Amino acid sequence: MEWQTKIQTLYKKILLSLSQCDLCGNNLYNDDLLSRSPPSQTLICSSCFTDIPLFNQKIIQGDLLNWPAINKALPKIYFDHLFCLSPYLAPFTQWLPQFKYQGRFELASVFANLLAQQWQNSVLKSSSADLVLSVPLHISKWQIRGYNQAHLIAKPIAKLLQLPYDESILIRTKKNKSQVGQTGSQRRDNLAKAFMLAKKLPCNTKHIILIDDVLTTGSTASEISKLLKQAGVAKITVLTVCLTLPKS
Ligand SMILES: [Zn+2]
Repeated sequence: MEWQTKIQTLYKKILLSLSQCDLCGNNLYNDDLLSRSPPSQTLICSSCFTDIPLFNQKIIQGDLLNWPAINKALPKIYFDHLFCLSPYLAPFTQWLPQFKYQGRFELASVFANLLAQQWQNSVLKSSSADLVLSVPLHISKWQIRGYNQAHLIAKPIAKLLQLPYDESILIRTKKNKSQVGQTGSQRRDNLAKAFMLAKKLPCNTKHIILIDDVLTTGSTASEISKLLKQAGVAKITVLTVCLTLPKS
C-alpha cells in the first residue's frame, strides 16, 4: 500500500539521520541493516569498532594481574582478579568523561555489552561469581551528579551475566577530596574506613564482582575488597571499563 511505503521511507530517513557513527560520523545503517543492530555497535561503525584498543585477554588469561607491569604497579591490593576492557586511550578518553560528566547514559550499555562479551569469551567458567556490586559514591557527590556511573554500568552487566546485583549493600561514609594527582599511599590514607556494609551479604557469597568505570591506583577497589573479605568473601574480581596504564 502506498501509505505504508511512505511511512517506511520516512522511517528510514529518520533512522539514517539519527545513526551516524559516534567516532567517524559515517552512517551506521544501510538498507539491509535496518533490522539489525548489535548492541555494542549501535553507536559506532564496524571499522571504528575494530579499532577499539581492547586488552588481549588471551595473553593475560583474562586477568590483568598476570601482567607483571600491572601487578608491580598495584602493590598491597586486596582483590584477586582484575578484568578491564581497555587501557584508558581513545575512544574511552572521549567517552568516559562524556558518560561521567555530561550525562551520555547510552554509553553505559555499550560498556556493559563489551565487558560482558569479553568476560564470557575469556574468563573460565570456574570464575563464576555469586554477586555483583558497584563502587558507591558518597551521598553528597551523588546528589550533585544525580547518578553513580559505576551503578549505571553494573546494572546491565549483572543482567547480561545473569547474576544478582545489589546497589544498597555498599555505602561510602567518608567524603573524599578529589583523588586526581594523589599518590597511591595518599589515596590509601584518604580511603581508610571510607566504606561500610549497609546490610549483611547474602549467605554463601564467596565470589563478588566489583564494578567501577576506571581503575587507576586500585586503592578504592582495594579498600572495598578489604571490607568484603573481612565480611567473609573469599574472592573479589574487579571489573572496570578502563585501566590507566602505569607509567613505565
Ligand atoms: Zn566509525
